[in-house]
Amino acid sequence: MRTDHSLCPSAEFELNGEVVFGMVGGSAQERRVIYLRQAVPIEQVDISRLNGITPGEVFRVAGTCAKDNCAHHDGDSQQCSLVNRIVEKAPVVTSELAYCAIRHSCVWWGQHGRSACERCSQVVSRDLMPSEELAEARIPPNRQNISSDINTQSSAVQSGG
Ligand code: SF4
Repeated sequence: MRTDHSLCPSAEFELNGEVVFGMVGGSAQERRVIYLRQAVPIEQVDISRLNGITPGEVFRVAGTCAKDNCAHHDGDSQQCSLVNRIVEKAPVVTSELAYCAIRHSCVWWGQHGRSACERCSQVVSRDLMPSEELAEARIPPNRQNISSDINTQSSAVQSGG
């Protein structure tokens, strides 16, 4: 496992996904990620039985940070602005540090440590019903000042890069 904090924990399965490290559980109103003991290479994940559900709705996927090719990457600070906004806006949902198979390589952990993990399990990569806070957090910086109807549109937009 890498230790250079280069893995995005909100990668897109079909684009830059490399490993599945969590499954979306909880309820329709309150989704919570269940972290796997071992990350699974996406080549080994059978998505044929999802019956029209996209992988981003049920899996948390990590992949190499796309940096300048991601709308959330802040070129000035060389940071992921998405996790900065999540830590700023989203509530803490657990005070226990769950086991996470990608922690040593996770960009979000590298930037915010425990504060990112305390909020991480509420993040669903393709979230059709995000909380108001998460819907706001996932708007990339260059769209933050656009009108509130963007906020509504963003509810079906993937958070990852
Ligand atoms: S923020 Fe924490 S829990 Fe979430 S993927 Fe990174 S290390 Fe794992």
